Amino acid sequence: MKRLAIFGSTGSIGTTTLRVVDENPDKFCVTTLVAGKNIDKLIEQIIKYNPKHVYITSYLNAVILEEKFPNVDVYYGEDGLRAISQLDDSDIAVSALVGISGLEPTYNMIKHTKNVALANKEVLVTGGSFIMNLAKEYNTNLLTVDSEHSAIMQCLNGESNNKIDKILLTASGGPFFDKEITDNITVSQALNHPTWKMGPKVTIDSSTMMNKGFEVIEARWLFDTLPENIEVVVHRQSLVHSMVQFKDGTIMANIGPKDMQIPIAYALNYPNRLPNNLEKLDLFAIRQLVFEKPDLDKFRCLKSAFDAIKAGHSAQVVLNAANEVAVEEFLKGKIKYTDIPKYIENALDSHNVRNLSSVEEILDLDSEVKGKLYKKR
Ligand code: NDP
Repeated sequence: MKRLAIFGSTGSIGTTTLRVVDENPDKFCVTTLVAGKNIDKLIEQIIKYNPKHVYITSYLNAVILEEKFPNVDVYYGEDGLRAISQLDDSDIAVSALVGISGLEPTYNMIKHTKNVALANKEVLVTGGSFIMNLAKEYNTNLLTVDSEHSAIMQCLNGESNNKIDKILLTASGGPFFDKEITDNITVSQALNHPTWKMGPKVTIDSSTMMNKGFEVIEARWLFDTLPENIEVVVHRQSLVHSMVQFKDGTIMANIGPKDMQIPIAYALNYPNRLPNNLEKLDLFAIRQLVFEKPDLDKFRCLKSAFDAIKAGHSAQVVLNAANEVAVEEFLKGKIKYTDIPKYIENALDSHNVRNLSSVEEILDLDSEVKGKLYKKR
């Protein structure tokens, strides 16, 4: 029985992870649940999964939980998140918070848990080599949960890096791939993803294709590959989850149903596969698979991601910080959809690339960029 700590249990990845637990009660149990604000959902999860430790952001919610569940250790606030991510009584920690808020907890999980199932892509976008080196130092398995990276990992199975010609990272293209991007795009239009049901931040990132830019950075670190060997391929059907082209021209592709339960279960049970109740693909009904090139003039956030990769690590931290602010402001209705790429381009233009030598310096730069952007408004 594997013991799980789920960071972001009330979100899209967290609840899908719990679906995997529900289908495999003999294989997994839950020791830790971490949520942000959704106390009602967290209460339901505590009753159902009986964890030892839980976290909720606010003190007032923590008091409610303490009264209701006297046998559960309740954590809250910044120090609480730090403490709960340093516990060492789980076999796998699922890192599924959103944005850079997941960086320090994931850093701690790597030090204290032997297996980290990583969904939160901003951790590698901002933490890059620090996270990879830490995982090596502590001999911790970083098991990717992102469907594209899980696909690449499976295509690479047993093959060494020097045989790779290119990683072909597939992208759904989001809701605007075939539509004009205008000032009038509403929040609900941007949240209407054609193929995946996800949390709001990653859904907006998918619509701007910033998500794919983040995934290029993630792939570069996870598979120790040069960014120029990673190509983004738009595949609207989201059935091919990514591919690897080898030096002899062979392409290995990972094809399967579009449900995050599959990559999550694969990470939790790596290297074995768990059966599930999902409908299998009917290749005769699909008949053909279609691939297209992304337009970098239209999807400026994807272009900015490539620019930030070329510029260096600190530019990637700036890219992420500016994007977090822009997406948050757009979701609150404070800026237009077309302002999102502008925020990012302006932040990158005014940044002088510098060396970052610790997670503290990464977090300082993040606060600096966000502080300037909030002040401008
Ligand atoms: P959601 O917004 O659905 O969920 C985020 C979770 O994190 C919620 O449980 C939320 O709590 C919690 N949370 C957010 N901020 C904090 C905080 N500061 N402290 C404690 N808890 C916090 O996001 P997703 O599940 O969609 O995505 C999670 C990560 O996984 C993202 O980085 C995303 O890019 C990545 N990812 C997601 C995929 C998907 O299919 N959803 C696919 C691949 C990667 P609450 O809701 O209670 O406030």
